Amino acid sequence: MSIATSLRTATQTAPLFDGPYYLSIGGQLATAEASFDVFNPATGKPLAQAPAANIAQLDDAIAAARTAFKSWSMIGYDRRQQYLEAYADALAAHRDELARLLVLEQGKPLKTMAEPEVDQAISWIRQIAARRIPVEIVEETDSHVVELHHTPLGVIGAITPWNFPVLLALWKVAPALITGNTMVIKPSPFTPLTSLRFGQIAQSVLPPGVLSVVSGNDELGPHMTAHPDIAKISFTGSTATGKHVIRSAAGTMKRVTLELGGNDAAIVMPDADWESIVPQLFWGAVGNSGQWCVGIKRLYVHRSYHARFVDAFVAYARRQKLGDGLDPEVTVGPVQNRMQFEKVRTFLDDIKARGYKVALGGEVDPDRPGYFIPVTVVDNPPEDSMIVQEEQFAPIVPIIAYDDIDDVVERANASPYGLGGSVWGRDTRAAVAVANRLETGMVWVNEIHTQGVDIPFGGHKQSGLGTEHGSEGRQLFTNPKTVLIHKSRS
Ligand code: NAD
Repeated sequence: MSIATSLRTATQTAPLFDGPYYLSIGGQLATAEASFDVFNPATGKPLAQAPAANIAQLDDAIAAARTAFKSWSMIGYDRRQQYLEAYADALAAHRDELARLLVLEQGKPLKTMAEPEVDQAISWIRQIAARRIPVEIVEETDSHVVELHHTPLGVIGAITPWNFPVLLALWKVAPALITGNTMVIKPSPFTPLTSLRFGQIAQSVLPPGVLSVVSGNDELGPHMTAHPDIAKISFTGSTATGKHVIRSAAGTMKRVTLELGGNDAAIVMPDADWESIVPQLFWGAVGNSGQWCVGIKRLYVHRSYHARFVDAFVAYARRQKLGDGLDPEVTVGPVQNRMQFEKVRTFLDDIKARGYKVALGGEVDPDRPGYFIPVTVVDNPPEDSMIVQEEQFAPIVPIIAYDDIDDVVERANASPYGLGGSVWGRDTRAAVAVANRLETGMVWVNEIHTQGVDIPFGGHKQSGLGTEHGSEGRQLFTNPKTVLIHKSRS
């Protein structure tokens, strides 16, 4: 029995998978001539080998997606919904395996982060599969009618990062496929395993070529962004790479959606019931070990209670356990890879060298294997410090005192980024008024990180281009096509 056939008979009790990992190209599982190590961030040791596709294999996946597009784009929403439901069912049968693998390759805690990530991804596939983009009549007279159709674009190239490798990829798959496109995914080389597995699972339920997953080294991404047969790149990653993507995509004028970096500010208003929101603010900053694009990266707290707030935040942080995400007591995992670990250490070095006050953490245990950064709280660093100005992408939280609302809004906006932000206060109207002044793609008031399939998600300024989710996000996987019909000849 082939692997694909055995997947077809998968049940809720599917055993935990232990490799090997395959590329999925045009409905087939494929090996590669080369491979690369994937590391477990909790140990720093190799976890598995992932296949390194060559350019010819990537071209094959794109060609297969192009061929599949001809029929996939024509079968209609209802049939595609059935396929996506079957895909969600197949993923659900492998939910425990995917969640565990996500911990092993990414580091996040199993119960509080990895399982919810897989569950949310599966749920979103089902919800998005039920969405439609109807034909809109934009004008009608006695003699003519003008319709706006949203037709699929063709082959979508998805390029994904390592912080939420399951969710961020499937956020792209569902809207691209339901609107009639086909897709080739290139996962981050740091976390390819979950993507290779959900690609493999897709081959058991989706028609060949509709969804391929191709892992490999640094040459694959630029090849995708320049490829003439890819109609759109849906990219999530850093702002620096996003600039390469947009430059490269210009050559073929392909569509791009870019979800990029951020330096989100949380502003806690003078009237805030600050004691009650410490846990929400803590997890908003430290969840996923701070590796969230929309994580709180600057926490502005009114000076009247700043010192007490820092104490409460530190007390809450002390109750958390840092360690391997498979340990059920662990609430904060490692950072995902060595490169990120070394980068994060430059923030800690800078904090130390400049003598900023560290209320908690600050020191990496040199004898501890794995990429563990202790939760670090920096007490009121200056506005121009590295930890305030740059995206740390780590569990290091600067808690900054402010006196004046106009001033804190100006500081929050003084950034090339504009992804998200949050405002917290008892007087909701006053908090909303501040939220409305933030130059961001999203802002939460008295809540954080609420998301939904109908809630647009995207960045302002250098945090992105275009939107994911919502009807706006789904429409960006389509070509708005105006059809003008003269009635008199019918
Ligand atoms: P990254 O930019 O280094 O890599 C992202 C992906 O791009 C990877 O798959 C990588 O292999 C690929 N890539 C690298 N060079 C490329 C090139 N020249 N052309 C095409 N593809 C290329 O990002 P990362 O370090 O994996 O992720 C962390 C960053 O992602 C952070 O800045 C974070 O804020 C951002 N992020 C943004 C969102 C969002 O929705 N806005 C979500 C998650 C992460």
